Amino acid sequence: MARAGKVWLVGAGPGDPGLLTLKARAALRTADSVFFDRLVNPGILLWAKPGAVFFDVGKEPGGKKTPQEAIQRRLILAARNGKQVVRLKGGDPFVFGRGGEEAEQLAKAGIPFEVVPGVTAGVAAPAAEGIPVTHRGLSTELVLKIGARAEGSISGRTLVGYMAVEGLRDFLETAAVYGFSPETPAAVISHGTCRNQRSVISTVRNLAKNTRKARIRPPAIVVVGEVVGLKKRLGRQVRGRLKGQRVILTVSESLSSGWRNLFEEHGAEVWEMPMTRIFFLTPRGHWKKEVEKAQWIVLTSGAGVRALTGLVGDARRLAGKKIAVVGRSTAEILKTIGLRADFIGPGPGSEALARAWPGKRADPILHITGNEEKGSFAGALKGNGYRVKPLVAYRNEGPPRLLRPVRDALGKEGADWVVFASGTAAERFRRLVPRWPEEPKVAVIGPMTSQKARKAGWKVTVMANQVSAAGVLQAILSKTQ
Ligand code: SAH
Repeated sequence: MARAGKVWLVGAGPGDPGLLTLKARAALRTADSVFFDRLVNPGILLWAKPGAVFFDVGKEPGGKKTPQEAIQRRLILAARNGKQVVRLKGGDPFVFGRGGEEAEQLAKAGIPFEVVPGVTAGVAAPAAEGIPVTHRGLSTELVLKIGARAEGSISGRTLVGYMAVEGLRDFLETAAVYGFSPETPAAVISHGTCRNQRSVISTVRNLAKNTRKARIRPPAIVVVGEVVGLKKRLGRQVRGRLKGQRVILTVSESLSSGWRNLFEEHGAEVWEMPMTRIFFLTPRGHWKKEVEKAQWIVLTSGAGVRALTGLVGDARRLAGKKIAVVGRSTAEILKTIGLRADFIGPGPGSEALARAWPGKRADPILHITGNEEKGSFAGALKGNGYRVKPLVAYRNEGPPRLLRPVRDALGKEGADWVVFASGTAAERFRRLVPRWPEEPKVAVIGPMTSQKARKAGWKVTVMANQVSAAGVLQAILSKTQ
């Protein structure tokens, strides 16, 4: 699927790779092209997608900086070629990083872009030395100022107020003392970056009145300065159609982070709450013999595929054997280890696979499975005289208990969507959740899950028509304007 290009303006943090944000890392994992600055720790680049192309735009081989216009042209060109582009800058991209200029150019060129803030050096470097940049009784003000020799404009100021909404009028009076005229653009932003972010854009003169009218609630930040005016041009950054929506993912631990990236890319606030966790058992000595004896190997989950790799050790041991899988998604996972399924069940479930079983009665079958689904396939086949041996190669662990603060938050705020990729997840999550203020919408991966979710008491809103994260996402987007 060809996607439109996009540019992420990403803060790489002050240096320590551990101070890169999760969102920045996710962007790196999807990027085709990465343009990075001199200050970016190259260790961070190790998180990029294999095959990504890197451009060092901090310094050219001769030691000269790539001119800003050239960087901008290349960003735009890459995005126009359909590339996912990460522009990685030290610290925060909008703090003395010329990120604002790049964003302006992108906006002008009509390129979709998104800003991922970073930890700025002005706060992080002092903290690393044990110096708090503000301290009660010592400092109520933090000035971030560019050095005198810096190129470009050195005039103008931005005033950012914390805890300034309750006493907004007083705060704006201080702004006057700092030399801001009543006509200076000013903004209040509440719950910034949260799903309920709101803002009031005004002038120093009218901000207090407009904020009261808009009934803005803390926490909020006040911004005073000409930079507020840039919002007109830069406020169009892509936010994704799921912006403002809380999505709970209940898919198994091993799949969860991939799903997370996809949903975050569309702007959702994602909570990962895996309802199944899988522990692979250490292969026992006799397992290899079981594989040797089998004519058919049956895999009824992605975990089964992973267990198979672990227990065979050398793929040549599978030569001459046939492999049957429960459905297409398991077949896809099997492909990732270089094996093609000889038979794909018509679905849904291992019972359907058993009903359509293509093998002869005499052929020994080995079902590589978890403790929970252990009997499902064998039970459906055995009555017909087939020789099935279930081999429990992994354990399905139930969900952990819901953390108290998570339960409280869900009980108070709820969620917009909850996603189920298995009936088990739907059942388990039903038992865990508190009383919601309002039931979330429910997205399921397929008909089996849908059936079980309904039985567990969920009202299913949408079903994917393709068994994958992308399928579920599409289904949810179809219900989102
Ligand atoms: N956008 C960056 C700042 C870019 S300007 C940010 O938000 O941090 C570059 C300046 O940042 C450097 O000249 C230096 O003064 C400061 N800086 C960046 N990383 C730093 C670090 N790890 N330690 C100390 N200063 C740093």
